[in-house]
Amino acid sequence: MADDPLLARLRERVAGAVLPDEAMARHTTLRVGGPARVLLRAESAADLVATAQVCADEGVRWLILGRGSNLLVSDQGWNGVVVKLGRAFRGIEIDGERVVAGAAEPMPVLAQAVAAAELGGLAFGVAIPGSLGGAVRMNAGAHGHELREVLKWVEVVRLDRDGLTERLPAAALRMTYRHSELPADAVALRAGLSLQRTDPAALEESMAEMRRWRREHQPLGEPSCGSVFRNPPGDSAGRLIEAAGLKAHHVGGAQVSPRHANFITVTPGARAHDVAQVIADVTQGVAQRFSVTLETEVVMAGFDEVRSTS
Ligand code: FAD
Repeated sequence: MADDPLLARLRERVAGAVLPDEAMARHTTLRVGGPARVLLRAESAADLVATAQVCADEGVRWLILGRGSNLLVSDQGWNGVVVKLGRAFRGIEIDGERVVAGAAEPMPVLAQAVAAAELGGLAFGVAIPGSLGGAVRMNAGAHGHELREVLKWVEVVRLDRDGLTERLPAAALRMTYRHSELPADAVALRAGLSLQRTDPAALEESMAEMRRWRREHQPLGEPSCGSVFRNPPGDSAGRLIEAAGLKAHHVGGAQVSPRHANFITVTPGARAHDVAQVIADVTQGVAQRFSVTLETEVVMAGFDEVRSTS
């Protein structure tokens, strides 16, 4: 609603753009999801703190959005404020083997930039379509490597602690497979990485190989959120889903990808409900067949509370 009083209060306090009723389908790689009551682009830590204060005063929830590549928003949308980090949170500084990058920096851009500086350790990020901030929250990883191997620290602003800005050492995040204990109210602003000098030709070859592997094995041309489920210890979610006979299972416009059983892809007109139902069916099917409870990796928002296993 354009006359939503929340809008006026946010516009008074926040320098970045403040948009009402913004369709979240436009901001997630799954391309589904209803409107956010407000979507705003924060251009400073002060914008983030002001947003949190307005949200607290108005009794509405906020949600930090990275590149929306691991996010399923309900068809009802997000009845609160979605906050995207603006251009001020980009930037990459390279000093020897140390790198400091803004949380809004896309992982593929960062991976390419450090490779161009002949630094190894982040090649796995070349095909992860998220932001550095999202990668910190999720401990993103691929091809046998993950962010925790190179992350040294993350600078955050604590939105439930009056905007306290602090630098957390990576160890404080207790990162495990696709999980970090980044506090729920912490917004990553920038992060420090420690990389190693590497032969540039070998680096380029390994990144090309990762891209090639993905093109062959993943349904990259279709909207998805990457792997939907975490792999259970010692097994692969995709293998279990396939063995349970659920490959290509579909509900409405959402289906378990015939190409990669841990991906759910959608066709135009699909609803978030379809995706959620496929998730529920797969969880139930795998539990019945193998007595394994799959955990979702994808963050679900607007269904009740943010349902994140991170
Ligand atoms: P979002 O999806 O926008 O948000 C995810 C969570 O992070 C939310 O809880 C959000 O609030 C939080 N968040 C985002 N930014 C911040 C911030 N600055 N501070 C605090 N919290 C924040 N993932 C892998 O790990 N490995 C893969 O190989 C991989 N392959 C993929 C392939 C495809 C085709 C797709 C679509 C996705 C894939 N993913 C993969 C999933 C996804 O890219 C990662 O989980 C990524 O880290 C999410 O980052 P994002 O910026 O998109 O976060």
